[in-house]
Amino acid sequence: MSANLRERLAPDSQQSAEVRDSLVKSLYASPASLMIGAIAGGALSFVVAYHAQRPPITLIACLITIVAISRSVSAVYFQRQLAHQHGPTRAIWGMAYELGAWSYAALLGTLAFATLLLTGDASLHILSVCLVAAYSGGISGRNAGRVEVAIGQTCFALLPTSLGLVLAGGLGYYVLSAMLFLMIFAMAEITRTTHRIVVEALQGKYEKSQLATKFERLARFDSLTGVENRMAMQMRLREMFDNRTSDKDPMSVFWMDLDRFKEINDSLGHIIGDQLLCAVADRLARALDHRGHIARFGGDEFILICPGANQDIAQQIADDVMVEFGHDFDVSGYHLTITASMGIAVAPQDGHGSEELLQHADMALYKAKNAGRNRYAFFDWKMKERQNRTYDLEVGLRTALANGELLLHYQPIFDTATGQIAICEALMRWDHPVMGRISPAEFIPIAESCSLIEPITAWALERACQDAMAWDDHVRVAVNISPALIKSDGLPRAVISALMRSGLKARRLELEVTESIFLEDSGRTSLILLELQRIGLRLALDDFGTGYSSLGYLRDYSFDTLKVDQSFMRSVKEGSRDRAIAQSVAYLAHSLDVETVAEGIETEEQLQSARDMGFTNVQGFVLSRPIPAEDLLDMMRVMARDKSNVVTLMQDQRRA
Ligand code: C2E
Ligand code: MG
Ligand code: MG
Repeated sequence: MSANLRERLAPDSQQSAEVRDSLVKSLYASPASLMIGAIAGGALSFVVAYHAQRPPITLIACLITIVAISRSVSAVYFQRQLAHQHGPTRAIWGMAYELGAWSYAALLGTLAFATLLLTGDASLHILSVCLVAAYSGGISGRNAGRVEVAIGQTCFALLPTSLGLVLAGGLGYYVLSAMLFLMIFAMAEITRTTHRIVVEALQGKYEKSQLATKFERLARFDSLTGVENRMAMQMRLREMFDNRTSDKDPMSVFWMDLDRFKEINDSLGHIIGDQLLCAVADRLARALDHRGHIARFGGDEFILICPGANQDIAQQIADDVMVEFGHDFDVSGYHLTITASMGIAVAPQDGHGSEELLQHADMALYKAKNAGRNRYAFFDWKMKERQNRTYDLEVGLRTALANGELLLHYQPIFDTATGQIAICEALMRWDHPVMGRISPAEFIPIAESCSLIEPITAWALERACQDAMAWDDHVRVAVNISPALIKSDGLPRAVISALMRSGLKARRLELEVTESIFLEDSGRTSLILLELQRIGLRLALDDFGTGYSSLGYLRDYSFDTLKVDQSFMRSVKEGSRDRAIAQSVAYLAHSLDVETVAEGIETEEQLQSARDMGFTNVQGFVLSRPIPAEDLLDMMRVMARDKSNVVTLMQDQRRA
């Protein structure tokens, strides 16, 4: 065979295994046609043998019948096998068919050859040649699935017949021989064309199914890490939750979030970030060890779903995950230390539905993050109550200002040298129509988180400035300013507006800020602080000692007042560490010509200590609690009338 022909006959190596498999199956596709062919071949060859009365022809007819029967039987057997077994067919079936087909064709060709040479009966000649010609014609369509089989069959059947016709001699026989010889090429062409059409159809079907599988994968799996995506996770969670055999069956959901992943992503780039996420998915799979399913919720958040895991098992899994994060991640030559926080909710006690369970795991994650990260927390229903309360407060806060539910109380701060009121700190109060009085420690953070702090502070500034207009000119008013607000342009505007509308001198307004304003300072904070001081405002550093207490702040920013946190005043006994610190701060402030306030003075002993330590001002319940503006005015009036100071005031209070 020439290389060209071999190439043309060889099965297409590009053809996918699936397509080739389908083609082999097509050979056995209709056992009925095989059987009809077998019966026809067997019957006609016996008719020829019977009339010819030649032993070789009888032998060939017997062989044809044996091969025909065995091919029919094997076709039926193959069909049965196919019904019970899925997946690719074994190569042996293709070979078996090939062998059977070729030997059957060769036997038919030999029968015609022998009939033409061993008998002189023209009708037998025509019968045997017709048998071969009809067979070859049928083959090109039936076996187009395997070109080499079909062409082989036509050759094996037609070549001996054609040769037999030439050897038998006679014009008609020569012409017929030539026709049969040409028929080989015609049939080959038809087979190849049919084959191409069949293969294209199969290939198209195969590609379609491949595409469908690919799309299904894309829809279900996270393309980066290969774990399930959010949508698939939600479906799986719902399915697993609903398919529990009993409502009491446990099941745990973990919501995991990487701590400070953004920093790594921002500093080392997204490629490293992506590789880290893949490594995290691998570690999670290792920690989980087939006890559940992993999904990426998006960003650096992963969800673990562990069917059958009660609280104890969930804790064990969480510990295993934490252990995995105990080792550095090696990503593109970087040794990255990264920790994770996890929130865990366990069914049935933590949720009545899959959505609720997930939501509660998220709530628990929030707790783990707030508690300092690198830890896990289990959901508990108190969290839910707190969240509901926060939500109610948030809703209430939106209308509190308009409804006049917010008010300011003032706590006087006394000058230790004169005993007179030097400053009054404005402390906000919220009288909720249903929940009663709410502490600013609770509602201010909510106001900060829902962008209400700006209008609330603007209102406080205006109210405080107006109230201060009724006081002695030397008494200042202090207003607390949230760290979130210090960066906003709205603050200077609100301050100026409050001063203009009330007519209060700028030097009488003091803004209290905490050290947290310096966190993530982009330079904007200092600009705004400077601008405010340029207007003439005073700045106080509140709760000093609780944050970073960096001396750098004292060097870089010229605060007018330093308020030392009440926690230092708790144990200011002679020789205590707190006292040593408080005293040093008071001394330092004195050297910097900065006023000091000792906050949270609750006892006379603490008051005495604050004085001894050199604090210029004192503030605390022992002197006065925060009081309404009218009560403060009364106090001021009494002090002015009686020419009393804080010491006499306290004596009066004690007597009362
Ligand atoms: P702060 O600015 O440090 O205010 C002092 C807090 O300590 C006040 O609590 C005050 O009542 C309390 N206090 C005063 N003397 C004593 C004492 O002797 N013992 C004890 N145990 N506590 C004392 P309050 O009024 O509950 O305010 C809490 C915090 O809420 C304030 O701490 C301040 O950070 C914030 N806050 C209050 N009003 C406002 C406001 O209008 N705006 C902003 N942004 N924050 C405010
Ligand atoms: Mg304050
Ligand atoms: Mg304070």
